Amino acid sequence: MNPPQPRTPRTPDPAPERRILRIRGGSAWDDRGPRHAPGPVAALFDTRDRDRFCPGTLLAIGPADEIDRHEAWAHTPPEQRQTIDRPGSVLLPAFVNAHTHLDLSALGPRPPSDPADPSAFAAWLDMVRLGRPAQPDAIAWSVRLGVELSIRGGVAAVGDVAGAAGGQTNLEAWRTLADGPLLGVSEVEFFGIGRGEARGLEAATALWRAHEAGFRIDPDAGVRLGLQPHAPYSVAEPTFRALAGEAARWNASGSPALHLATHLAESLAERELIAHARGAQRTFLESLGLWDESLAAQVGRGRHPIEHMERALVSAAEGGSPFLCAHVHDCPPEWEGREPEALLGVLRRAGVSVAYCPRSSDAFASPDALGPHRYRAMLDAGVNVCLGTDSLVSCPPGTDRLSPLDEARRLHARDGTDPLTLLAMCTTRGARALGIDEDRCRWTVGGRMLGVVAAEGATLASVMGGESEVALLPTTTCC
Ligand SMILES: [Zn+2]
Repeated sequence: MNPPQPRTPRTPDPAPERRILRIRGGSAWDDRGPRHAPGPVAALFDTRDRDRFCPGTLLAIGPADEIDRHEAWAHTPPEQRQTIDRPGSVLLPAFVNAHTHLDLSALGPRPPSDPADPSAFAAWLDMVRLGRPAQPDAIAWSVRLGVELSIRGGVAAVGDVAGAAGGQTNLEAWRTLADGPLLGVSEVEFFGIGRGEARGLEAATALWRAHEAGFRIDPDAGVRLGLQPHAPYSVAEPTFRALAGEAARWNASGSPALHLATHLAESLAERELIAHARGAQRTFLESLGLWDESLAAQVGRGRHPIEHMERALVSAAEGGSPFLCAHVHDCPPEWEGREPEALLGVLRRAGVSVAYCPRSSDAFASPDALGPHRYRAMLDAGVNVCLGTDSLVSCPPGTDRLSPLDEARRLHARDGTDPLTLLAMCTTRGARALGIDEDRCRWTVGGRMLGVVAAEGATLASVMGGESEVALLPTTTCC
């Protein structure tokens, strides 16, 4: 199936004169469990403060017949009442996609045919590099398509990487995202390693200084700018520490916390470069003319990529800006004679959030090279693990939406992971990673949810175990 052509996504606009919205479903869940005893459920919202996909303030949730007698419903004139009925559905908080690249959506779902074959993989990388949108109009078109696919997947907030096409930092993805109805963070990507080390930090700090207001936007109310030093194999380690220092100063001045994200411990090639200064990534950096003495002194010291980043990650957390780290496929329990679980200990101490993208991880055959992803051990250790879709490019052929639910379903089918844990990874944990109030992903009376999703199914387990459709409710036809 081809992805849809992007329309200009906009904030849904149901009849504003209707003050009370009643949503009825088969059951309602959040990361704490079911929100009422078995039987049809209903939730009432005061829609006067609705915004984007937030239906308004939650007034009540409970058994449908009780809600029918609630004074806010019973005492409101019928013409000011609205009902959305989803009797065969589980009602869930809208999802948070903690790691995606909406600006690559135009390429469509085209995962590598054989990631284990170096030449096929190199051809795939070339396809992405050459095919990715680079001009502002093309980037905006691609991001709008990604927003459409996200809404179709029940997503109300994203951590979206604003890619540096051609190596240049670019705000077009942020502007487009901010024009649409999703909330979250636009993480502006930059590179800078070896001969390019100084250039990377300069570009990032110049961008930051020039757009300070964008970095202060509340991700609960708009799209905040964040910084995304791309990865330890493309940005020098001192740059990460410098950013951590800058973030601490920024945060100490009372500004909302600077959002920092990166890709970490993604592949064996990254480990080879960082620990041993060898392998395909060194060859690549040499081919770009970036390899120099300073880089040679920073890597090849037997340190795992997580150890290599430890000082920067811990210092960023101490300064109030813990990193959101995408992937973290490479986190073995034993490493070169260190204490067991030393690497997991670093992640915990650094308070990082890990955005795991299971389908992308499988598309790149990461488990074959590095073993199963250790998300459950990370969760057990107290690390905030959330789910991301990565870009549409690495999604399976035929993918026509971008939803962490599809990532959760992969984990449920493969690992039998508990549905409630998966729901938290699709909602509250992603919110925490992006600086969004976690309560916006819960049925809390008096609260304002990011949005409400109806997922066809009888129970949360059947939703996680099935392939049913989902819908972000206020955008769909009401009765
Ligand atoms: Zn990514």
